[in-house]
Amino acid sequence: MRDIRISVEAATALDPIYLRQLREGPDQGTEECDSCGRPVDLDREPANVIVYKYPGVTNVMFAHVECAGSALVHSDDLSVRAQLEKVHVLPMVMGDVDFASLVIAPYFRARTSDFQSSAHIADWLEAGLHLILSITDLQHRPPDASGWRASFMPGDQAGQTRVTVRSGLYSPLGPTTVVNDVGIRVSEAWLDLVRTSGQVALLAGLTEIHKLPDRDPWNILRELAKAFEQGALTCGMADADWLGV
Ligand SMILES: [Zn+2]
Repeated sequence: MRDIRISVEAATALDPIYLRQLREGPDQGTEECDSCGRPVDLDREPANVIVYKYPGVTNVMFAHVECAGSALVHSDDLSVRAQLEKVHVLPMVMGDVDFASLVIAPYFRARTSDFQSSAHIADWLEAGLHLILSITDLQHRPPDASGWRASFMPGDQAGQTRVTVRSGLYSPLGPTTVVNDVGIRVSEAWLDLVRTSGQVALLAGLTEIHKLPDRDPWNILRELAKAFEQGALTCGMADADWLGV
């Protein structure tokens, strides 16, 4: 049993199942301390839980017991949700397949209000991406993701391309911008795959691709495999536009 300390107030904002998970695992054991930023190993040292409630999103953070007390913090800051929805984007070509891929990963692992899953995974599945159920799926063309579209245009600098990805194009609530005008560097061959097929494969999951030192395909694949093992990898073939001249 972990020594996870939660104030009565903070506990009222948490689902009982999630509370038990916090105390017993399984989860990744190490988090960043909300106060000092250094790692706090939940499996080896006591930790305080700090619950932040923002409009539309709840985020659970941890702190060393000497750094900060357990608390429930309310905020009406609307920008937090947008911040939590920010994503990393990494282009790649999978093995010898004939399609281009974009790996999408959140900057932050916000949790849904029911605390059963990552907010991002829930949103992506809801919007029509498909959960990857077998690691060999990565070698195949993913099923179509209805209502998803990636738009590419030349960037300001030579060799740069800008990408915007939207979901929910046919939703009565209107589209959601998942990737907002992010600059990527891709080869002409990669762009040709997108232009000729009019599609790009999306691999959206809780990976840590931004921590990779390079774009070595094996390292990327290992990150994707880790996310898959956590049930946190989704995929789908999105339509793609090239808005170049
Ligand atoms: Zn600390």
